Amino acid sequence: MTLSRTPPDAPDTLLIVLGDQLDRRADALDALDPRRDAIWMAEVEHEISRVPSHKRRIALFLSAMRHFKNDLQATGFTVHYHELHIDASTDRGGTFGEVLAADLTRLKPKRLMVTRPGDWRVLRDLEETAVSAGLVLEIVEDAHFMCEPATFDNWIAGRRRILLEDFYRFMRKRHRVLLGDDDQPLGGAWNFDADNRASFGREGPGPLPTVPRFAPDETTAGVLDLVAARWPTNPGELEGFAEPVTPKQARTALATFISERLEKFGDAQDALWQGESELFHSRLSAILNLKLLDPREVIAAAETAGRQSRAPLNAVEGFIRQIIGWREFVRGVYWHFMPSYADLNALSCDDRDVPKFFWDADTDMACVADAMRSVLKLGYAHHIQRLMVLGLFAQLVGVHPYRFHEWHMALYLDAVDWASLPNTLGMSQFGDGGIVGTKPYCATGKYIDRQGNHCANCRYAPDVATGPKACPFTTLYWDFLARHREQLGEIHRMGFQLRNLDRKKPQELAQIRSEAGQLRERLLRGEKC
Ligand code: SF4
Repeated sequence: MTLSRTPPDAPDTLLIVLGDQLDRRADALDALDPRRDAIWMAEVEHEISRVPSHKRRIALFLSAMRHFKNDLQATGFTVHYHELHIDASTDRGGTFGEVLAADLTRLKPKRLMVTRPGDWRVLRDLEETAVSAGLVLEIVEDAHFMCEPATFDNWIAGRRRILLEDFYRFMRKRHRVLLGDDDQPLGGAWNFDADNRASFGREGPGPLPTVPRFAPDETTAGVLDLVAARWPTNPGELEGFAEPVTPKQARTALATFISERLEKFGDAQDALWQGESELFHSRLSAILNLKLLDPREVIAAAETAGRQSRAPLNAVEGFIRQIIGWREFVRGVYWHFMPSYADLNALSCDDRDVPKFFWDADTDMACVADAMRSVLKLGYAHHIQRLMVLGLFAQLVGVHPYRFHEWHMALYLDAVDWASLPNTLGMSQFGDGGIVGTKPYCATGKYIDRQGNHCANCRYAPDVATGPKACPFTTLYWDFLARHREQLGEIHRMGFQLRNLDRKKPQELAQIRSEAGQLRERLLRGEKC
């Protein structure tokens, strides 16, 4: 354990700062007096190993935490910080709560405080630890977010349907974002999503701007050595790690996105292209979720670019909707419905895990292999790769929604519980039965073909459902609809897809379902397709 300056007496207040709370502007931090109070942070093996974490994800969290600790110390705070070491026998072992409990006994703080964690399980763990130590855990709302859980609860009260679009407009008005002088939406519409679904066409995306990379400094280099030595068999690649790990680097990443990629972000938002996962996407979600960036700053930068005509309105609006709309919406859903939300399994999936190639990219499906190579290399895939390639495949094959969430938590740099659970269990897998999405996102391989160029380089054919050329997406899609026919029939927006299912000849559908069953069996045995 590394202890910085130990105050002579027990701290009045001990503030717990978690690995995704690296916000210098946090209200809880503002409330501290460095002469009397102290901060507690910990790297805990138990947290890292709950799921088989991507090496890059471990490195990002630990590096950003250590930089944050150094910054706090440089400005006079006492930080009690537990570091993990290459030699695990020198660590303080145990769960997060156990490590904290031992320090509460030793430090004897008068007050214990934390900003609302991003994980219901961690909050419960901290509360139980505090009670055992005879303390009350004071929870400070996380002012990083623009909608407090209580405000979301009020917004949701009495509504028949929880619609993102309604929440998004509420937030636009509440924070006066992209409004004209008449309080009406800029450009005469709230939502320009219909303009954001183009593919690149045969010519592809053209020359792509590079995403800024940040050379590892001494702190990051130490973390990279630690991760390489201590978790050598964990999934993912560490080579070329160049993620932003400080607020300054995060602002550079934001500025570069606004000046070089926002302009084309909108049109190409849903497009796929072989070998390219970053395209015109912002790559800001991980640093936002670590709180290295403030969402208000991100929104203001995009809005200013739009008002100065440096980016078209469909791009600006689409990007801002992700931040002030979707991001805040899923967090509201998380705190409103947890802990029971994590148990939802609306399609009654068996306890089935993701296929083996979700860990090693070893599949003949060109679209899946490409998305998985990006995930293993960068801990990242863009949202259509997540939703309409990897997420879609998991849904069609019948992966349990919580297992999909666990896989997502393991491999993505930006995955924290409040964001991952509604996005995976809810949006991607329809496990919540329609709380965050109005219908399952399901499609055949023809959707993937329309959005990019993978199918042209694949051994399967997107419009074929049976036989050796059959695209697994297409085979599994019809089987998925048939398997859940009754339940999906209650969803108005599924009508078109179900009418197409009903047009299939019984013999054809029987053949599709037989091949889908064999495919699902093969995947259960760990075989590839
Ligand atoms: Fe993916 Fe099917 Fe297209 Fe192959 S044919 S790239 S599996 S959608």
